[in-house]
Amino acid sequence: MKILVINCGSSSLKYQLIDMANEDVMASGLVERIGIEGSKLTHKKDGEKFVTETEMKDHRVALKLVLDELLNKEHGAISDLKEINAVGHRVVHGGEKFNDSVVVDDKVLQEIKECFALAPLHNPANLMGIEAIQGLMPDVPNVVVFDTAFHQTMPEENYLYALPYEYYEKYKVRRYGFHGTSHNFVSKRAADMLGKKREDLRIITCHLGNGSSMAAVDHGKVIDTSMGLTPLEGVCMGTRCGDMDPAIVTFIMEKEGLSPKEMDNVMNKKSGVLALSGISSDFRDIEAEVGKNKRAEIALNQFANRVRKYIGAYATQMGGVDVIVFTAGVGENSIEMREQILSKLEFMGVKVDKEKNNVRGKEAIISTDDSKIIAMAIPTNEELMIARDTKRLTENK
Ligand code: ADP
Repeated sequence: MKILVINCGSSSLKYQLIDMANEDVMASGLVERIGIEGSKLTHKKDGEKFVTETEMKDHRVALKLVLDELLNKEHGAISDLKEINAVGHRVVHGGEKFNDSVVVDDKVLQEIKECFALAPLHNPANLMGIEAIQGLMPDVPNVVVFDTAFHQTMPEENYLYALPYEYYEKYKVRRYGFHGTSHNFVSKRAADMLGKKREDLRIITCHLGNGSSMAAVDHGKVIDTSMGLTPLEGVCMGTRCGDMDPAIVTFIMEKEGLSPKEMDNVMNKKSGVLALSGISSDFRDIEAEVGKNKRAEIALNQFANRVRKYIGAYATQMGGVDVIVFTAGVGENSIEMREQILSKLEFMGVKVDKEKNNVRGKEAIISTDDSKIIAMAIPTNEELMIARDTKRLTENK
């Protein structure tokens, strides 16, 4: 069974063709600047890159070129489109309707549209990808995998905000959480690596990348997560502010005469460790300035403190914790950040093994053998998770 996984952004598109027999990536790639001058497709096959620069006015044109690359005689991966058994799509927001992935039909498409207001930058682009594939490959089943679905198990007390209840009823203002596919993948993988069932463990997953989120996975179910109605809440991130006094929003808007859209831009694009450090949103650039630049240290210390705050909070909510997992760009690669976060958790029973923690981008237990709580680094693989769900929902159908 071969599955094509598609992740459409507003002007970009990532894809992977996965052979489910061995879960190998047969080919992958990225399209950038869709609908903008300078569109570019970079196709990857066996470690080699093949670049196509041509006008791509919309996602359908881009996806047609992707399919052509997959069929290419020299660097393609298939000889007939019929070899693709199903297509899996990432969709950011599934609202309250979806607690699992689902096979696309007209009702599902309508429901994705109904979530446009909750994810105005993402859901319309995700939908364009699905509709483009339906046009280009009308016989192939499409599956959508939602970033929000894994978090749908949260109880009301954790997903409701302490705001007038009518805003929840009228506008569905509540905590949804994001990166669910990643939290699901790494919590499952952690249990598998330990030879245990996820249902028997209390796991805290730390997805720390450009965007960062935390989740408390209690005996297999998310009971709380740090991102909220939108991916702005929680720990401070590359360019997003994360948690702060909400009164700051109106205060700054009044002082600076900013519109809601402008304020939104400040909080999403101009804040986070970029604002704190004054250097960059990239943790590598900030880490390089440690010892030379005080603000670099403030940014990294605040980030570590915020992540630790959530670990403490989630441990108390679950009545303890068995496993802490780090994933995504920073979590998988920053040896220093993992150590900084965990070093103050010794009182809880976390003991970091410096040698074992000396890994980047690999699966590893990074705590000592006698550590009461097991700490792990696990590379996330959202594409594989999407492919697995697509297989589960379409095979034998
Ligand atoms: P996204 O949220 O865009 O998917 P990623 O999960 O790919 O982000 O994470 C990207 C971030 O990971 C980069 O901004 C960078 O700060 C961080 N990162 C990547 N490699 C390293 C490294 N070796 N050390 C520290 N940080 C790293």
